[in-house]
Amino acid sequence: MKLYSTNNPSSFVSLKEAVMKGLPADNGLFMPSSLTPMSTDFITNLSKYSFPEIALEVAKHLIQDSIPLSALENIISEAVNFPAPVVQLDDHFNILELFHGPSLAFKDFGARFMAQTMSHFNKDEDKELVILVATSGDTGGAVAAGFYNTPGIKVVILYPSGKVSDLQEKQLTTLGNNISALEIDGTFDDCQALVKKAFLDQDLNQSIRLSSANSINIARLIPQSFYYFEAFKQVNSSKNIVFTVPSGNFGNITAGLLAKRIGLPIHHFIAATNLNDIVPHYLNTGNYLPKPSVATISNAMDVGSPSNFARMADLYGSTWNIIKNDISGFSYNDEQTRIAIKEVYDRYAYIIDPHGAVAYLAYKDYLKEHPDTLGIILETAHPSKFIDVVEPVLNTPINIPERLACLADKEKEATFLNKDYTPFKDWLLAHY
Ligand SMILES: *Cc1c(COP(=O)(O)O)cnc(C)c1O
Repeated sequence: MKLYSTNNPSSFVSLKEAVMKGLPADNGLFMPSSLTPMSTDFITNLSKYSFPEIALEVAKHLIQDSIPLSALENIISEAVNFPAPVVQLDDHFNILELFHGPSLAFKDFGARFMAQTMSHFNKDEDKELVILVATSGDTGGAVAAGFYNTPGIKVVILYPSGKVSDLQEKQLTTLGNNISALEIDGTFDDCQALVKKAFLDQDLNQSIRLSSANSINIARLIPQSFYYFEAFKQVNSSKNIVFTVPSGNFGNITAGLLAKRIGLPIHHFIAATNLNDIVPHYLNTGNYLPKPSVATISNAMDVGSPSNFARMADLYGSTWNIIKNDISGFSYNDEQTRIAIKEVYDRYAYIIDPHGAVAYLAYKDYLKEHPDTLGIILETAHPSKFIDVVEPVLNTPINIPERLACLADKEKEATFLNKDYTPFKDWLLAHY
């Protein structure tokens, strides 16, 4: 497998370099150079494969000989070890539940696969790798769980003090072992600035091998394509299949576009957003206008400049009228989202989270014009992660899964630091 940067399609790097670097030096994003279709035999016989077997076939096709087969088998068995079930609501609406992993969000798929892949590429190094992650809440939990106990890799998570929910904080601060948490007296932007400064600090980089686990790493995108195949298999229908993806940075939907490009016969995609509607606006008008994000109740999608848009554009040669053949865009406000949560519960006795609710609304609108389609809505998080929003709307208690609930009694372990660079650097040098 070779990859190029979206800013320079004529120069290639290995998968190892793309995964360990995360980002190309020219500020583009890494893209696979060859996206050929998988065998039609595999596509028509999906039902004969288990989810991990599907994941292995897709990974083999994309990664080729960049990772030896036996190592890839290990990576998949560690990374794809929880299910992605489709729940049918009626003849049109299906929910793909992506929250059965340790942090109860779809980001677990990407984080676990990335952790295993980095560990594979790191195994011949004698010096440990230290991964720095700044988080506003959700990503940190998935990354911490994904890298937990990964040999040769230490993770340092920086989070803004008082600005993440109690359970989110517990997800970051209770694992221990190779995961350390730094509680920064500042904002998410301050955390991110500290991480950026550390990467540019030559002196620090001479003593510690640093890397990042950021959301645009290609190793997070690849595994997100697996569950499109798995969902397609489960609905097992000859109808036109439409995937509706609640989107923020647009990594999840880009993985779906990759699945289609390598042969999965997906009829159409719907990009569903909250009021941060940069991509729906683009799809409807042809104008791409990033702007500052606004806060909403589906806050994992509060993104004003979606980082994976460059990959979507690249896949379609930046041609608007071709992109909009494959993808439609819809956006909704918080009041509409709350009404949708209630409607899904009243109609189907299904509890949906605010992100899934935005996607539900989008497919409902699309269905009016396309009644012959079958919708698969990506439910990206468990509703209990957004209990403060969902419980008052439904007026009914939400069950918190044991793997989240048990954190409440665990002891938080974090080092409190001010937002200056020197104490952060000193802490790193003292510990690694
Ligand atoms: C991260 C996240 C999203 C957005 O996914 P992107 O790949 O950034 O588009 C949607 N829902 C939830 C719950 C998330 O955590």
